[in-house]
Amino acid sequence: MGMGEGQGRMKGVGQNIKMERINVRTTKRQEFVEITQLIEDAVKRSGVKSGICYVYVPHTTCGLTINENADPSVKSDILSKLEQLVPESGRYSHSEGNSDAHIKSSIVGHSLSVIVEDSSLQLGTWQGIFLCEFDGPRTRYVWVKIT
Ligand code: ZN
Repeated sequence: MGMGEGQGRMKGVGQNIKMERINVRTTKRQEFVEITQLIEDAVKRSGVKSGICYVYVPHTTCGLTINENADPSVKSDILSKLEQLVPESGRYSHSEGNSDAHIKSSIVGHSLSVIVEDSSLQLGTWQGIFLCEFDGPRTRYVWVKIT
């Protein structure tokens, strides 16, 4: 990888940090890990008061989504429905044995953009940002860029 280790790896120039790498450790094969606060902290560090926050995962078997963070049954419903649609074992060509994870990753997508106003993500009351792990557990990372 050669991009350095640790949370909050900075790639900004000058006093304001405009891009960061944030590590996320997952603990199950499939799970949604909420990263809202990590992204919010990166927005604060960036010094950007009004702009757009881009979040991107550079992985082929995980993704990102925004959904309800109040009731945990919402994320478990999404995960179980994805598993019904794309079961772990099935007739796949890819020999690595994780085809379901690749497909689920494409379904949820790899990037998000959220409006930043008053130095804060403009998420709805019940919304959270989740890293969607489909082939864990492992250490993932997300790029956060605020402009
Ligand atoms: Zn694979």
